Amino acid sequence: MINGTKALDRSLRWGMVGGGGTSQIGYIHRSAALRDGNFVLQAGAFDIDAVRGRAFGTTLGVAEDRCYADYETMFAAEAARADGIEAVSIATPNNTHFAICRAALNAGLHVVCEKPLCFSAAEADELERLCAEKKKIIGVTYGYAGHQLIHQAREMIAEGLLGEIRIINMQFAHGFHNEAVELQNASTKWRVDPRFVGPSYVLGDLATHPLFIAETMVPKLKVKRLLCSRQSFVKSRAPLEDNAFVMMEYDNGAVGTMWASAVNCGSMHGQKVRVIGEKASLEWWDEQPNQLRYEVQGQPVQILERGMGYLHSRALEEDRIGGGHPEGLFEAWSNLYRRFALAMDATDRDDQTFLRDFWYPDVHAGLMGVRWVEQCVQSADAGAVWVDC
Ligand code: NAD
Repeated sequence: MINGTKALDRSLRWGMVGGGGTSQIGYIHRSAALRDGNFVLQAGAFDIDAVRGRAFGTTLGVAEDRCYADYETMFAAEAARADGIEAVSIATPNNTHFAICRAALNAGLHVVCEKPLCFSAAEADELERLCAEKKKIIGVTYGYAGHQLIHQAREMIAEGLLGEIRIINMQFAHGFHNEAVELQNASTKWRVDPRFVGPSYVLGDLATHPLFIAETMVPKLKVKRLLCSRQSFVKSRAPLEDNAFVMMEYDNGAVGTMWASAVNCGSMHGQKVRVIGEKASLEWWDEQPNQLRYEVQGQPVQILERGMGYLHSRALEEDRIGGGHPEGLFEAWSNLYRRFALAMDATDRDDQTFLRDFWYPDVHAGLMGVRWVEQCVQSADAGAVWVDC
């Protein structure tokens, strides 16, 4: 159970790039990092607009001289201070992730980076190599993966309660971009522009989330080949897709499907992962994150509730309030940031024993997502053909 006690005997000195006052995702980074005292916000290049970024940073309590105009200046100035930052989070549009991650690692910082990690598998490979060389981590904010019941599913599947896995059905299909809202909304505008978002829209922006949840639930399965079909229902978004279907074959003979969409009218998030084995199925929806459906063939449905004593100990480690009281996305993110702090500290101490069994969305998870998107795009653009993974 988490009760606010620090995971480490100190707070890691932390900075941010992006996540400014008008950003969608900046606040949840700060809320999650600061929640349990594992990080303390000391510096930032919070905004593409330096004046706006400094004004915002000071309202967060960051000293004015540590609210920087850009990340290069921040990394250089902080490296020169005895009390400079040790870790940085990157919450900027996708086109900037690779360069900022690389600069941060070269400056000797641990990194938390938004998904998708970068544009190409070659870039992600380079970041993975650089992490190993610099002995620093990149944590990737697949935020939903911090929900406790995903770890309950992982344990139940590992224990064999579902039997051999046959089918994984994944989706993240909302309806908010059913028309060209990007004409009015700055946060959507860059998401449908390949210069800022890379080779895909919903595959990278949405599908990488349930893909990673499924990888967390069933870590042993590897995608062997896939076939993707993608559409731009709002024509001005072409070549980027606002809807995509992917079929996958796994190395154990299982099959999977992914539906990613921003034009699923009326749907709020529609993020679901259903894992079907030869004996039973598990299903988790992000809009009801405190419940996990466990369906055994021939028996009534069981709804497992977060925080209850019958859950696996790994699903209770991060309980903050007990069963019945709903926890949400902010708690899931806080769980991830707590894990990022532990992984950073263990990496600094070169504690390989700890790291070997310790789960968190790491640079390799980021690489897997980027590679999968690349393969989906390759398949779709060749006319929806099977591509080996
Ligand atoms: P946004 O457009 O709302 O905000 C981007 C912020 O970054 C703004 O404050 C902007 O001023 C700042 N910025 C841009 N370029 C910068 C630079 N070079 N230096 C410093 N600041 C800069 O975008 P958003 O919706 O917050 O998305 C940001 C990232 O977060 C994207 O990669 C997106 O995919 C990701 N995201 C992840 C989740 C999740 O669930 N993990 C959810 C939403 C967004």
